[in-house]
Amino acid sequence: MTQEPSPIALVTGASRGIGAAIATRLAASGYDIWLNYHASHQAAARVQAEIEALGRRCRLLPFDVSDDQEATAALEPLLAAETPFALIHNAGITRDTLLPMMQRREWDEVMDVNLNSFFVLGRLLSKAMISRRQGRIVAIASTSGETGQAGQVNYSAAKAGLIGAAKALARELARRNILVNVVSPGLIDTEMIKELPLERMLPLIPLNRLGTRAEVAGVVDFLLSPAAGYITGQVLSVNGGLYM
Ligand code: NAP
Repeated sequence: MTQEPSPIALVTGASRGIGAAIATRLAASGYDIWLNYHASHQAAARVQAEIEALGRRCRLLPFDVSDDQEATAALEPLLAAETPFALIHNAGITRDTLLPMMQRREWDEVMDVNLNSFFVLGRLLSKAMISRRQGRIVAIASTSGETGQAGQVNYSAAKAGLIGAAKALARELARRNILVNVVSPGLIDTEMIKELPLERMLPLIPLNRLGTRAEVAGVVDFLLSPAAGYITGQVLSVNGGLYM
């Protein structure tokens, strides 16, 4: 009897932080991983080793998600042979400053990495998934995209845009059995928030602590599972009650 190949999940920005936790959690659930990152080669190799230790395959895909040509060149040849079951659109950056001080470059970089990349990757992956008539897409947004956050006009706009894009794509793809959802983290303990004044922010969180990377990864794993088969176009907030 020939064995069914394991389903594949493409996770962007998975060398560190939430993306790395998602990649290892999905590997533990039986997915082979296409692991995208930008520059952290050693960190990505460590995540790859963890995934392989779980008995799963892990293909490293270093490219800049904001570079359409690089992303297309890396993915198109692979997609000609195999189609991932899931895209986890996780790579993201911040360039925080108040709008009057913000440089055009800081606006554009945040838009390009967080949102415009969804045009390229969402398009490539959904095209491939349509012909298989199955798939899951999960975009990682942020509380900032739901409520707006001072000092993050660029990031809030990009994440709100991502939520709108995911909801629209969910409607486009529902008839093809492809589910599209958003996971919206609050403050999660990663390098991204190391500069923030946490002593002032923690009292605003009803659960009075940061979230863990594993707590976000678990929700993504659920959204890929059969148990989530009737959930599409939704935003699942993982924020300790920060925004209800
Ligand atoms: P992080 O620790 O800073 O990690 C960011 C990851 O994204 C890294 O793997 C990085 O790769 C990758 N990346 C950055 N720019 C990239 C590019 N142009 N192309 C490809 N990969 C790129 O961030 P995180 O805290 O895990 O955040 C992950 C996601 O969750 C982001 O979308 C973020 O906006 C969102 N989020 C985070 C929080 C939080 O509190 N941490 C809250 C809400 C939402 P390299 O290492 O190679 O640069």
